[in-house]
Amino acid sequence: MYIRFKDGKPRAFTLSYDDGTVQDKRLMDIFDKYGLKATFNINSGRFLPENVEREQYGGNLKLSEAKELYINSGHEIAVHTLTHPFLTQIKSQEAIDEIIEDRRNLEREFQTIVRGMAYPYGTYNDDVIGILRDCGICYSRTVQSTGGFYLPQNWLTLHPTCHHNDAKLMDYAETFVDTNYPWRKKPLFYVWGHSFEFDRDGNWNIMEEFAKFMSGRDNVWYATNIEIYDYVKAYNSLQVSIDKKMIYNPSAADVWVEDGDEVIMIRAGETIRRN
Ligand SMILES: [Zn+2]
Repeated sequence: MYIRFKDGKPRAFTLSYDDGTVQDKRLMDIFDKYGLKATFNINSGRFLPENVEREQYGGNLKLSEAKELYINSGHEIAVHTLTHPFLTQIKSQEAIDEIIEDRRNLEREFQTIVRGMAYPYGTYNDDVIGILRDCGICYSRTVQSTGGFYLPQNWLTLHPTCHHNDAKLMDYAETFVDTNYPWRKKPLFYVWGHSFEFDRDGNWNIMEEFAKFMSGRDNVWYATNIEIYDYVKAYNSLQVSIDKKMIYNPSAADVWVEDGDEVIMIRAGETIRRN
């Protein structure tokens, strides 16, 4: 049996953008235009003060702007720590504070339960991972590109496929959507970056072309990071009899599986019996 995603789709595609700068607005417009879903990782201790001229502080959003942009956007808000420190270089008590206070602020201001994260500077170690667990963080993205499409072994070290500036970005995209591609073992394409890089590098066209290429594909589920995490957890919770004729889905989400030529939906809380 192999995982199928929502509505039986064999592949999933997600994006992850860090730091909450003003360019997120233009980036989200591109994602929305092409029906893509993303996660935005935010430092709630670095919003530009409401009464300050933007030029003094670079490109961070004001809290009011962030709320207008992200709330009810269909995209995910996730932790990126309060002030963007190297989590491996500060004391554990400070790291706990950086994560839990960011989570608390984001949940209060954006009125949503926040369970995802991206590591500032991509740095982590076993101690930091332990702190994430204690803070109720379900997954955390690194900056280690794999060039692959595997589901993560460990969600607290969630390695992306590539950064958007990767010279192979479009090669990966073409491989991923190729109908001959062996998606059963490699179903997840994951791209990350910072939206301010498109202004800095003068290359918004890269994302525009990539998003257009990736959009509207029948065999791809477009989802935020946490949607994919929750779906995979639901899939992993399936209880299957040895002869595979009975499958129980104890989760609160409908789940799809592939068995031979068959794609089977098991509704939330239901048991199916097959001949
Ligand atoms: Zn960052």
